[in-house]
Amino acid sequence: AVSEAIDGVRDVLSRAGESIIVAGKPAPAADGRLIETCDPATGEVIASIAAGSATDVDRAVAAATRAMGPWGDLSAAARARVLYDIASLIEAHAEELATLETLDNGKPLTESMFLDVGIAAEVWRYYAGWCTKIGGQTLPVSPPVGTSFAYTRREPLGVVGLIVPWNFPLLIASWKMAPALAAGNTVVLKPSEMTSLSALRLVELANEAGIPPGVVNLVTGYGHEAGQALIEHRGVAKISFTGSTATGQKIVTASAASLKKLTLELGGKSANIVFPDADLQGAAQGALTGIFLNQGQVCCAGSRLYVHRSVHDELLGELESAAREIQLGHGLADGTEMGPLISAAQRERVEGYLRSGAEQGATLVCGGQRPEGDLATGNFLTPAIFSDVRDDMRISREEIFGPVLSVLPFDDEAEVVRRANDSEFGLAAGLWTSDVTRAHRVAHQLQAGTVWINQYNMLDPAAPFGGYKASGYGRDLGEESLLGFTQTKSVWVSL
Ligand code: NAD
Repeated sequence: AVSEAIDGVRDVLSRAGESIIVAGKPAPAADGRLIETCDPATGEVIASIAAGSATDVDRAVAAATRAMGPWGDLSAAARARVLYDIASLIEAHAEELATLETLDNGKPLTESMFLDVGIAAEVWRYYAGWCTKIGGQTLPVSPPVGTSFAYTRREPLGVVGLIVPWNFPLLIASWKMAPALAAGNTVVLKPSEMTSLSALRLVELANEAGIPPGVVNLVTGYGHEAGQALIEHRGVAKISFTGSTATGQKIVTASAASLKKLTLELGGKSANIVFPDADLQGAAQGALTGIFLNQGQVCCAGSRLYVHRSVHDELLGELESAAREIQLGHGLADGTEMGPLISAAQRERVEGYLRSGAEQGATLVCGGQRPEGDLATGNFLTPAIFSDVRDDMRISREEIFGPVLSVLPFDDEAEVVRRANDSEFGLAAGLWTSDVTRAHRVAHQLQAGTVWINQYNMLDPAAPFGGYKASGYGRDLGEESLLGFTQTKSVWVSL
C-alpha cells in the first residue's frame, strides 16, 4: 500500500525542484540550491525542493505587486468563483493531497484526508462566500458646520506574506491564503522547508482554477533565508505567521523597520480539565485525541491534563491501557493510528523532555520509547504519559510538541482555574463536566483563545482561532481573520 501510494504522487515529487512559483510559472531557486525532504517514517529522501532566497522572494513580491491590479479589477463575485473552484479542485485531488501530506509529515492518511484536506476545502468555500459580503458602514457624522455624509470601505492591504509550519501544512496555508485572497490581497506563501509538497500542489491548483498570474506565489526554502527575506521585505504589507514563539519574536523585531502588520499564531501549553461529574469515557477519549493527534505536534495539544483527585486513578488507568493500544506505523499503511515525529531532531527534543520529567520526579506511566523492528529507521516514539507531575516542572510549563501527556490531580474548581491559567501561553483549553453552569463559568474564566466543553480539538472555518498571552495575536479563521487582511478607509462627502 505504501509504495503504491507513493507511485501515485511521483509526478509531483519529480517536479519539486521547481517549487518557486512566481506569476504562475514554476522555477528552481535563482541560485539552483535544493533542500532534501524526507519521509519521517523511513528517513528516506522523497524529493528535493528549491531552496529559495532573497532573490526569489524579490521576484515573488514584484509579481504579487503587479497582480494587485488584475485581482482588484475582478468583481467580488468573480473572485468568489475562483475561490469556490479552488475548493472543488482540492476535493477532486483529495487523495493526492492527503498522500503528499502523509508522506511529508508522517500523520496517518485518514487524518490527512478528513482533517487536513477535508477542512482545507471547507475553509476555501467559507471564505469564497465572504468575497461578496465585505461591506462598510454608513456613519451618522455631525460636523460643526455644514452637512456631511461619511462611509467606510474595507480595502485590501496589498501583498501579504504567509509563513506556515510543518504540522498542518495544507490546512494552515489554506486558512491564511483564502481570507487574504477573499479580501483582495495578493500573496507570497512560504511553507516549512520540511513540508512543502502540499503547498506546491495547492499553488498549482490555485493557478489551474484560473486565479490571475501573480495573485498567488510560492517561495519554498529555509526560514532564515526565504522566510527572513519575506519578513524584511519593504513591499510586503503584512505577515501572517504560524510557528514557534522564538520565530514569532524575530518577526516582531523585523517588522518594526517597515511597521508591517502582523498576525502571530504561536505555541501553547493547553490545559484540559476533568471534573468529577464528567462522562469519564468521553473525557478519556478526548484527552487521548487532545494529546496524541498528529503525534502531539499540535499547537493546541491538551498537554496538561488536570483530573479531579476522586477520579484521577481510574482515568489514569484508562488512559494508560488505551495509550498502550495505539498502533504506530507508516501513515500510508493500513491500521496506523499514530505516525512518526517530523524529524530526528524533533524526536530528540521530545526525548529531552522525557528525561527532564523523570529527573524532576514525575513517573513515566507508559511510552516514550523508540520502537524496534520495521519502524526503527523512522522518527517514531511510543505515546507517553507522566503522572506525579507538579506545575513547576519543565514538562508542565514548556511546549513539548510531541506525544507526551502530563496528568496532574486537583481538588477544587478555583484551584484548577488558577493553575490552568498559570502559564505564559493561552492558546486553548478543554473542560469535561455534566454541570452546565460550571461548564460556562469555568470557560469564561480560562485565559485561552479557544475553550472546548466536553470535546477537544474541534475546528471550523467560522470559529476564530488564536492565542491569549504569549500564544500570539490576531486570529486565524472566522470573520476576524478576514478583517485582519483589510484596512478601513473613512470617506467623507460634503452634501
Ligand atoms: P518554526 O517557527 O520553526 O517555523 C515556522 C515557519 O517559520 C517555517 O516556515 C519556517 O521556515 C519559518 N521561519 C523560521 N525562521 C524564520 C525566520 N527567521 N524568518 C521567517 N520565517 C522563519 O515553527 P515549526 O517548528 O515549523 O512549528 C512548530 C511551532 O508552531 C510550535 O511552536 C507550535 O506551537 C506552533 N504552531 C502554532 C499554531 C497556532 O495556530 N498557534 C499552529 C501550528 C503550530
